[in-house]
Amino acid sequence: MPVPPHSAAVTRRILRSLERHHPGAFTELTFRNAFELLAATILSAQCTDERVNQVTPALFDRYPTPGALALAEPEHLEALIRPTGFFRSKSRSLVGMARVVVERHGGVVPADLTALVALPGVGRKTANVVLGHALGVPGLPVDRHVLRVANRLGIARSNDPVVVEHQLGAALPKARWTLASDTLILHGRRICKPRPLCDRCDARGDCLHVEVTGPKAPPPARRARAAGAPVSSASQGRRSLGVKKR
Ligand code: SF4
Repeated sequence: MPVPPHSAAVTRRILRSLERHHPGAFTELTFRNAFELLAATILSAQCTDERVNQVTPALFDRYPTPGALALAEPEHLEALIRPTGFFRSKSRSLVGMARVVVERHGGVVPADLTALVALPGVGRKTANVVLGHALGVPGLPVDRHVLRVANRLGIARSNDPVVVEHQLGAALPKARWTLASDTLILHGRRICKPRPLCDRCDARGDCLHVEVTGPKAPPPARRARAAGAPVSSASQGRRSLGVKKR
């Protein structure tokens, strides 16, 4: 596993600083139990949390349990979740997930990563979201925001979400995994966007990717040379970390 540029101690310091900047970070999906969060997280693929939250009240009124969802008629379910996009495949995932929860787990969402990722439509990120937020089991979801922000800061170094999960997990106590993920996601949405707002960032003193912005900022190519980074037309002068938007 590649070693991140920053030590575990620096990683913990950076996360403490970002946690102060974004107090109360938590998933923005609305849920009342692990089943609802699992279904909402499946629906959140390629969709905003806000849109998912508009759809789930009616969905859970109609299908309040895995047993009810397992028996859903595809056309009824698809109509309810259509605004979240990819509604046919999401419908298949929801019904498949619910059936396996009923058949193999007695209708109870399992509090175990291996069992969760064995459910239809459930990947490692979704499983970690549910573990960390609804089941009291440490989970460190790595989405595109965590991937981008952690690589820029230098607290992780990989394009692979599983590698980044392990790098961050090794640097942080398990009890802080989920909060760290939620904090990095909020930081990625509010400050460290694809075009980052570095002048508003509390972690810029430790960051390996600070960008100077504003009227006095040098041209992108000169910024990159000053930072010692290779310049390419694709990178537009930013230090290229090879992090792709998923
Ligand atoms: S200094 Fe800039 S690039 Fe670094 S984490 Fe903050 S916003 Fe992102």
